[in-house]
Amino acid sequence: MQNSDGQIQNNDKLDIKSLNLQELTEELAALGEKTFRAKQMYEWMHVKLARSFEEMTNLPKAFREQCTGRYSYTALEMLRMQESKLDGTRKFLFGLADGNMVESVWMRYKHGNSVCISSQVGCRMGCRFCASTIDGLERSLTPSEMLDQIYAITRITGERVSNVVVMGIGEPMDNYDNLLCFIRLLTDENGLHISQRNVTVSTCGIVPRMRQLAEEKLQITLALSLHATTDEKRRRLMPIANQYSIEELMDTCKYYFELTGRRITFEYSLVGGVNDTDEDAKELIALAAPLCCHVNLIPVNPIKERDFVQSETARIQAFKNKLERNKINVTIRREMGRDIDGACGQLRRKNLTEGTAALPV
Ligand code: SAH
Repeated sequence: MQNSDGQIQNNDKLDIKSLNLQELTEELAALGEKTFRAKQMYEWMHVKLARSFEEMTNLPKAFREQCTGRYSYTALEMLRMQESKLDGTRKFLFGLADGNMVESVWMRYKHGNSVCISSQVGCRMGCRFCASTIDGLERSLTPSEMLDQIYAITRITGERVSNVVVMGIGEPMDNYDNLLCFIRLLTDENGLHISQRNVTVSTCGIVPRMRQLAEEKLQITLALSLHATTDEKRRRLMPIANQYSIEELMDTCKYYFELTGRRITFEYSLVGGVNDTDEDAKELIALAAPLCCHVNLIPVNPIKERDFVQSETARIQAFKNKLERNKINVTIRREMGRDIDGACGQLRRKNLTEGTAALPV
């Protein structure tokens, strides 16, 4: 069952891992448990990354059994893991309790390990170049299911995750309340305590939610999927552009920076012959220059359902150089895991259409 926020109420059982420490303390107090029990359980869930109540060995057995009967305890099942031979990037396909699947990606960088998580099962935004949206939205993920992707990967790799990017399947701003709850749990000093500065949320540009996020005054990075410099062009790539203009988006980015002091990231996927001309670069410079921002150029990752092609390497470089000459802070995103269906939603989609047999283990 699912309410309007996408919170799952498994048989109406409370999703225990989505509670913060105070809520957990109140919940367990109602069962007659002392504060220290909540602290112990919170640590089992969010630091020791227990997969069930049974693993919480310093809690009395009768209490663990009571909890198993009373609460829903999410844990992901790893269905597939693919490791890139090129760069060691690992892509995971996880099964959720209701049979749905999500993807997450683990990347090793010089500055630490980074995980890219999904925020929804599917997506309803309809961006033309993206594989995640082809079958629409199934449902949103709970805060615990977003955390679980990081927890499962930490357990599997045995290495700490220091950066989290919400850039996998789904539109995080279409699951706003759960996203906020997830960020607060992830960065909580009693949990994994990942620095807010190491968390990035990417959005296709849902203006009211971006403004709301600014008002939370978190220290996370907001990334805007811009991909085009005129409303007309953007509408051809992203249906959300019919609702919000580039002008509104730029005002909102300015607002985000004013309230948080955090530099905005613009994501710009270069599609050959569509948005990669010198004129496009010039327009992008005009948009980026007045803002404190960083432009991340992404060579489009062609998906078989669409006929978009990547820009030529020389074109990408020329585009970048033009931005640099105009003092725009710009990087070309390293193409991690290209050999393992690295682009959003490709692995889940392959599994849906061809079945697990088609996938390498
Ligand atoms: N819904 C969010 C986050 C998910 S996608 C958003 O729209 O930002 C993360 C980034 O990858 C977005 O910038 C998205 O537009 C981009 N993207 C999706 N599919 C792509 C593809 N095939 N090639 C290049 N970039 C892609």
